[in-house]
Amino acid sequence: MEVVTPIKRKILLNPGPATTTDTVKYAQVVPDICPREQEFVEIMDGVRKDLVKVVHGDPQKYTAVLFTGSGTIIEDVLVNSLVPENKKICIVNNGAYSSRMVEIAEHYHIPCVDLQFPTTGLPDLDVLREALQKDRDIAVVATVHHETGTGVLNPVREIGKIAHDNDCVFVADTISTYGLIPIDIEADHIDFLMSSAQKGMAAMTGVSWTVGKTAEIEKSKEYPKRSYYCNLYMQYDFFERVGEMHFTPPVQVIYALRQAINEYFEEGEQARWERLTKCWEAIHKGLEEIGLESVIDKEIQGHLVVTVKAPEDEKFDFFKLHDYCYERGFTIYPGKMFGLKTFRLCNLGIITHKDIENFFVVAKEAFREMGYSLPLK
Ligand SMILES: *Cc1c(COP(=O)(O)O)cnc(C)c1O
Repeated sequence: MEVVTPIKRKILLNPGPATTTDTVKYAQVVPDICPREQEFVEIMDGVRKDLVKVVHGDPQKYTAVLFTGSGTIIEDVLVNSLVPENKKICIVNNGAYSSRMVEIAEHYHIPCVDLQFPTTGLPDLDVLREALQKDRDIAVVATVHHETGTGVLNPVREIGKIAHDNDCVFVADTISTYGLIPIDIEADHIDFLMSSAQKGMAAMTGVSWTVGKTAEIEKSKEYPKRSYYCNLYMQYDFFERVGEMHFTPPVQVIYALRQAINEYFEEGEQARWERLTKCWEAIHKGLEEIGLESVIDKEIQGHLVVTVKAPEDEKFDFFKLHDYCYERGFTIYPGKMFGLKTFRLCNLGIITHKDIENFFVVAKEAFREMGYSLPLK
């Protein structure tokens, strides 16, 4: 595709939306089309197949179902659609996004076993094993692959194995890892995963999806219908019969996603993962030069988010730091950890370690502007 005018490039170091390419931005500019036309149905069909391919799913066993909305909509869909009558969902909870799934379960009055663990570490899997063995009414286990609130990477493969050993369906919120960290849906014991276009695929906000086991979706036809717009089976059934979303899709957002998927395959799974790991290493190097530390142990980070311990003294002002960087094209984000002064640096988008190095030139200036001499001691 030919790009007409380059758009000012912003480096987003917030936890999504991510920095996108101009070709993805411009892919939205298309002639008006009614999404019920065969031309659009074919685009949707190709997108669904490719979304399964990204996580190496066998198309005979897995399918993609898309919904119009931000990432939380697909958490909502899976939590409300996959728990049979009189059964429970168990949530392995060590962060803000697992807590969100607990809240969703509560809103639908779905019995929920909330296994809480400290947000700074990994969950204790013996506790999960015991919970599943003790309570045979648990039918679904859900967790978050990468807790974007902290940067902790959870062992989904092990959690999925425990879920399957106990005859539970395993749901993983992979919204901040899909298209970033290589995922093999079957080897990782995942029955349903989640993604949202503005995160790993570096497309536009407005469409989210699950890749899940077709046989389990078919079974869920008999489960209570707790939502009208957000029911998994109803949406799947419409896709299978008619080839498109039940209600109006975000047409232009889908064109951008189509382009972003092409760019994903052009870059390649491994190359993307290596590029992002280089960004993450550059973040740690920059922090070290300033004299700042990350809250989470490096060994359990997902290479996509660093939660930074902010200086404790009076001179530090997150908003000053933010505004100084923002005016120079870099967006940083506040922390999400209770009781700790933190901020986050995330590297989800189409950026390189060079961008991170440029960011740290600016960040160092901002610290000097706040009255610090570097490195901090
Ligand atoms: C971003 C994100 C979500 C969804 O957030 P939205 O603001 O609704 O897009 C859910 N889970 C995780 C792990 C995320 O990173």
